[in-house]
Amino acid sequence: QANERESMYLVSEFAQKNFQHNLLETGKGKAIGLSYFKERGFTTDTIEKFKLGYSLDEWSAFTDDALKEGYQLEFLQKTGLTIVKEERRFDRFKGRVMFPIHSMSGRVLGFGGRILTNDKKAAKYLNSPESDIYHKSKVLYGIYHAKQAIAKEDNCYLVEGYTDVIQFHQSGIENVVASSGTALTPDQIRLVNRLTKNITVLFDGDAAGLRASVRGIDLILEQGMNVKVCTFPEGDDPDSFARKNSLEDIKAYLQENAKDFIQFKASMLMQEAKNDPIKKAETIRDIVTSISKIPDRIQKEVYLQECSRIMDISEDVLFNSLAQLDKKEI
Ligand code: ATP
Ligand code: MN
Ligand code: MN
Ligand code: MN
Repeated sequence: QANERESMYLVSEFAQKNFQHNLLETGKGKAIGLSYFKERGFTTDTIEKFKLGYSLDEWSAFTDDALKEGYQLEFLQKTGLTIVKEERRFDRFKGRVMFPIHSMSGRVLGFGGRILTNDKKAAKYLNSPESDIYHKSKVLYGIYHAKQAIAKEDNCYLVEGYTDVIQFHQSGIENVVASSGTALTPDQIRLVNRLTKNITVLFDGDAAGLRASVRGIDLILEQGMNVKVCTFPEGDDPDSFARKNSLEDIKAYLQENAKDFIQFKASMLMQEAKNDPIKKAETIRDIVTSISKIPDRIQKEVYLQECSRIMDISEDVLFNSLAQLDKKEI
């Protein structure tokens, strides 16, 4: 079992090198893949740092290379790099630019591959399948490159996508990881929890991003961590925002717009509620439910006070409704 995993790691590392070679040293890779990344504003240093690559637009170019180098088909299949159908072999990531996904210690676990067009019919990103070395729910993209900065800054920015992580690094903000489109999981938060108690959620400025931010909050609070949320202008994500702004402006934006979760929920939900008392009551219950997830009693109390102030409702009432929620949990 351990041997099998080791073989899968080795195949993945070979794939990373193969894709990187295509991107940087072949005519097609340079013309198609490299120019795509350059167009997105990535520098050569950045491309090398994240070991980005390109999978040739041929049915089995990668698989053929791997077999020729002596890698076994079994492990090419187990990592999902090769798909076998009716005894024919296909490269999973044919014609995509490649983002290797590294573990905390820097091993290649899997890949995300992006199509180069904006064809709405094809899946924009394709990921490695779950395997013995790649467990989506336990991985955060960028953790290897971010871990030192997270500890140093004592804060972690949580974004949605690969390019958000990369563009932030290039701008000079390195304490950033991505959930890569999957709903955030407790295991992913635990990875960050080892490095800092503070997370700032920076999801896309669209409805899906807002929803994902809300869902993430309670999971983070449950682990006794502090969570802030900073939203972006409609249509922007951290990548597009960082491209348009200087480091100073990005930092200033984050500073000014990061709200603690109560302010975030209050302002977001109250926009819908306006002066409707029933909606306002729902908002308050929603916030109290989040507060109920906080393990530390003193912290709970502090947030109750804040909620009381912001929502203009007595602390007693909030305290009682919190007590009721706690009772239900038992
Ligand atoms: P880009 O800027 O390259 O268009 P993005 O990172 O902004 O991509 P989003 O649509 O905001 O892409 O999605 C966020 C993340 O969700 C992606 O980085 C990717 O990890 C994941 N994702 C997006 N689309 C898909 C898909 N069709 N299948 C699997 N994962 C996806
Ligand atoms: Mn999005
Ligand atoms: Mn995005
Ligand atoms: Mn984007």
